[in-house]
Amino acid sequence: MSEATLRALVSIVLSSAAVPNIRFRIEGYDVYAERFTRLKAAIRRQEIGFEIDDAYLASSQADAAYNPRKDSMILHSSMLKSTAISQRHRGAIIHECLHAILDMDYVQGISPYQEETVCALTSNIYVLHHYGKPLFKPNGNATQLTRKIGRKPGMDVTFDDSFQAMYEQVATIYDQADPNYGRRPGLHNGLRQRL
Ligand SMILES: [Zn+2]
Repeated sequence: MSEATLRALVSIVLSSAAVPNIRFRIEGYDVYAERFTRLKAAIRRQEIGFEIDDAYLASSQADAAYNPRKDSMILHSSMLKSTAISQRHRGAIIHECLHAILDMDYVQGISPYQEETVCALTSNIYVLHHYGKPLFKPNGNATQLTRKIGRKPGMDVTFDDSFQAMYEQVATIYDQADPNYGRRPGLHNGLRQRL
């Protein structure tokens, strides 16, 4: 599978009218549409690599992944097997896009679990606005926070109750898979120009 095809797939996900609804602040860092526009430009300049690795994703029980050291996004071959991109796959890809943005911007002040929580939140916001129904539970913490952000675009989620509750859930899930995950030092090192 060519990298160009994977770049095009991610660019389609980033082109959704749902993206401007992803608008909040975490630990002093603002997430909003322009970040995603800059990521799209970086993808076009081939500063981010793409690969298919179904075995790796199966071993980490993920639909997609992002490696900040290699500036590379790992996608699943099933993403290319249908003409329409599924809700689950859009949710997974936009999640990894936020990881890539935080790496691109050398963001250091966000802990690993805070990062996973905002990536999960981003998936929920995106899917809700793209499809009209949330990725996670309709009355769960992620959807409550998504609605709050809809009312107060740009709000600081850092100390929000729904965010804290999401954080607890995320920490529990990731701890079970890898007890060291939350203790890893910041991995963000920017995008290096790929040759
Ligand atoms: Zn993640």
